[in-house]
Amino acid sequence: MAAEKPVLQVLLCSPRGFCAGVVRAIESVERALALYGPPVYVRHEIVHNRYVVDSLRAKGAIFVEELDEVPDTEAPVIFSAHGVPRAIPEQAARRNLFALDATCPLVTKVHRETEIHHRRGRQIVLIGHARHPEVVGTMGQLPPGSVTLVETVEDVEKFTPRDPENLAFVTQTTLSVQDTGTIVDLLKRRFPQIVGPHKEDICYATTNRQEAVLKVAPVVDLMIVVGAPNSSNSQRLKEVAESAGCPRAVLVQRAADLDWGMLGSVSRLGITAGASAPEVLVEEIMDALAQRFALSVETVTAAEEGVFFPLPRLLREEHAAE
Ligand code: SF4
Repeated sequence: MAAEKPVLQVLLCSPRGFCAGVVRAIESVERALALYGPPVYVRHEIVHNRYVVDSLRAKGAIFVEELDEVPDTEAPVIFSAHGVPRAIPEQAARRNLFALDATCPLVTKVHRETEIHHRRGRQIVLIGHARHPEVVGTMGQLPPGSVTLVETVEDVEKFTPRDPENLAFVTQTTLSVQDTGTIVDLLKRRFPQIVGPHKEDICYATTNRQEAVLKVAPVVDLMIVVGAPNSSNSQRLKEVAESAGCPRAVLVQRAADLDWGMLGSVSRLGITAGASAPEVLVEEIMDALAQRFALSVETVTAAEEGVFFPLPRLLREEHAAE
């Protein structure tokens, strides 16, 4: 008789995985492939997930890091969900490339806020992570020197503005709600005249996924975050789990990455997924777990989501004309 599998209690965080901005970006590439045929060029990973990128590549998408890598072509060139500096659409226009912008509307909203502050003569503080493409894109909306990046409380302590009475702040959309709150509080204490959003610019998807993790992390032995190492919101979910008292949190891209030795001592497991991780990868991991454990699965819900962003206008119009 086969040995009985050990019982493993799984708490599935909800919401998890794809957000409306990621769905829109992936559908933009798929729609462009269907309308114009391959190849479709995509500047930067359309979303930070290797599985998604490989699937689109197999359908005819060609991923590049810079427009210089795109030949002179009539094929569409799509900008990723993270947004791009102004210089990129300008470069595309100079080369007569057919550019389609899949920047998440919530990132575009931050770009517009940044521009408004600049027009009103304010020095802008951006809370975010250096070199993340979203930060590069937001800083690149304005001339060099208009936006000062702060990453930590220490950066805020050291910051000397040109005019403390004429300051604004904006944030990256995928930060830790808690850490960003601390940085914003310090900015407001040091510079009481600073203007900005009511709290920060962290998007609904990042906030909701962190809230679900905050409910689950304190009562599990291990939190698995399905997501890529270069995905900001996935990294934050791991950190949020650790800071909420979970003894261990790991970022896992595929079932093959699971550390079975580590799972041996776990009786309650939390699972979530970053906003760029497809549900099929969560299912793959659940299937792998089910082969070794008798799973008892419960979903822990922090928020219901019904957000939907329509495709970029050009893709919608072409769709209607079909
Ligand atoms: S994580 Fe937020 S900002 Fe980023 S694509 Fe999703 S909804 Fe948009």
